[in-house]
Amino acid sequence: EEDPRLQRIASSIRVIPNFPKPGVMFQDITTTLLDPKAFRDTIDLFVERYREKGITVVAGIEARGFIFGPPIALDIGAKFVPIRKPKKLPGEVISEEYTLEYGTDKIEMHVGAVQPGDRVLVIDDLIATGGTLCAAIKLLERVGAEVVESACVIELPELKGRDKLGDRPLFVLVKAV
Ligand code: AMP
Repeated sequence: EEDPRLQRIASSIRVIPNFPKPGVMFQDITTTLLDPKAFRDTIDLFVERYREKGITVVAGIEARGFIFGPPIALDIGAKFVPIRKPKKLPGEVISEEYTLEYGTDKIEMHVGAVQPGDRVLVIDDLIATGGTLCAAIKLLERVGAEVVESACVIELPELKGRDKLGDRPLFVLVKAV
């Protein structure tokens, strides 16, 4: 049986066609943040899933992983670690490059923020092609962490990002079409 909270969360997400470019159906979670019950339910559903899993670090991906990650981390008693776009973090960083449709992109994390043996939950608002999440997982594995699961509010199943993750587990609340 589907959790009744999921319908409210799905309805709270605004879809804006052709943003930021033609053909993209942008899934806008800022409208979820305008509905305190939907936002609360979103956090609760993740917290209920990860509370007893021995997670030591919640790693949030810039930018919208910074909205959902910290409240989850506080509730489950884990650290929060930001994974950022290049040249944003002031300390020594470890970085991971990944390919886009045209060109490449990069994400960075502070050296020492995540330790070998840390049990990590990776969080972002949405998985499309899976490139961003895959790079984040690689980065975390390179520093010796165990990525227990990746979690997103929304999955775009047509883009098959889940396949890119191979057998690494992915948990999502809402599938968009
Ligand atoms: P990807 O690496 O292709 O899985 O893209 C995921 C990243 O791009 C996430 O950080 C999302 O916030 C953002 N993103 C990609 N497609 C969309 C979309 N249709 N609506 C909102 N955000 C998107």
